[in-house]
Amino acid sequence: DNITVQELANRMAVRGAEVVKTLMRSGVMATINQAIDADTAELVVAEFGQKVKRVSDADVEEGIEGIVDQAGDLRPRAPVVTVMGHVDHGKTSLLDALRESNVVKGEAGGITQHIGAYRVDIGHGMPVAFIDTPGHAAFTSMRARGASVTDVVVLVVAADDGVMPQTVEAIRHAKAAGVPIVVAINKMDKPEANPERVKTELLNHEVVVEDYGGEVLAVPVSAVARTGIDKLIEALQLQAELLDLKANPERDAQGTIVEAELDRGRGAVATVLVQNGTLKVGDIVIAGAQWGRVRALVDDRGAPVEQAGPSTPVEILGLDGVPEPGDKLWVVDNEKRARDVAEYRQRKKREQSQLGAAAARGTTLEDMFSQLKAGALKELPVVIKADVHGSLEAIVAGLDKLKTDEVGVRVLHGGVGAITESDVSLALASRGLIMGFNVRANVQARDMAKREGIEIRYYSIIYEILDEAKAMLSGMLSPEA
Ligand code: GDP
Repeated sequence: DNITVQELANRMAVRGAEVVKTLMRSGVMATINQAIDADTAELVVAEFGQKVKRVSDADVEEGIEGIVDQAGDLRPRAPVVTVMGHVDHGKTSLLDALRESNVVKGEAGGITQHIGAYRVDIGHGMPVAFIDTPGHAAFTSMRARGASVTDVVVLVVAADDGVMPQTVEAIRHAKAAGVPIVVAINKMDKPEANPERVKTELLNHEVVVEDYGGEVLAVPVSAVARTGIDKLIEALQLQAELLDLKANPERDAQGTIVEAELDRGRGAVATVLVQNGTLKVGDIVIAGAQWGRVRALVDDRGAPVEQAGPSTPVEILGLDGVPEPGDKLWVVDNEKRARDVAEYRQRKKREQSQLGAAAARGTTLEDMFSQLKAGALKELPVVIKADVHGSLEAIVAGLDKLKTDEVGVRVLHGGVGAITESDVSLALASRGLIMGFNVRANVQARDMAKREGIEIRYYSIIYEILDEAKAMLSGMLSPEA
């Protein structure tokens, strides 16, 4: 467990320079941004005549995850579904169609409120909860953060277009997560629709539909003509039964944040998908590094509710700050505990970003020398910019896996948003390359890159980045490189 000199100074309420001096006296040369290990830190604290209190994750977080459910308390719960598929195959249209097919207790359907997830009830069987963000980003960003909310993936494939690169990518994501797929063969209203072709193409990717003796349910639909929507819901209900999804509605709630923002009038607003237990107005909750007492709950129809049970998405008001999608939410006993955990996590987050920055500054000369001496790890320096955090995390994790004993990708910087001049200068400093995922470079950055001879490559499919990086790395291995 490391800590930066600055953070240690903060915690002892002394000046950073004092800590640097003390370290120097004991023979440790460290700047304010560098990290020192726990033992060294302990010595420093003693030098200042202060008491050491090592706080571990276990101490603070203990018991947060709460109760283990007894089998007898478990009740069936609705499946949580994410819609994925190739661009333009109709993910958004299908989510719209599903939203409108809602007929809760005879009220005319239609969910008007966008809160990041909604439930569809077709009047018989379990309702089905949908994550209202089409595409892979939501799924991957959650997964990258260790949150698995999705029980079933609806794979949308246009019947007039068939299996395309992002279809394959979606299949990979679902398989990697061990989440079953239900196929929605969309655009069946089109004269050129060819559902058989879709089914045979899926075979090439080990998605075997029932007609071919497999177990994957495939439902022909038209998102635009609104046909097959009920059949799709029924297939999802069937899949949910096979999965035997259960939760205990009687316990304190536990869930995952799917969306969060700062609202001018209402403060921090987050949508939580309750996964277990029942969330109630007045509960004290921890969500990531934020806490609060639930002031109000709002459902996907914009109506205030007193409580929300398992597999229910609900907007929550009363948090002291904005949590991140993928953050876990827990109900805790009292405010003090909530505040302690939130503060601890906020400090952790600060430390991690400081350590990250310190590491980035620190790896230069000494490291390169030692690597050269050790037989040289050849590195490909890259700057990565992506449209959303989820993709960025998935790309960085994917690139990291390409590392061998001899070669690896070094991510100089990873960020969200357009490619700017500062990205180019970063790449320039290490003679690296810039990779843009679903983002473009602004004019200044483009000019500068051209001037300085920095290469910018654009991608819209994650595995293309990974494949190319792999090819470049093996190029570095070849003797003439
Ligand atoms: P996404 O990129 O996967 O979210 O796809 P969209 O939902 O934006 O749909 C892309 C295009 O396909 C739009 O022009 C839709 O109107 C059209 N589309 C979607 N579903 C259907 C359908 O069932 N039938 C027809 N004919 N067009 C559809």
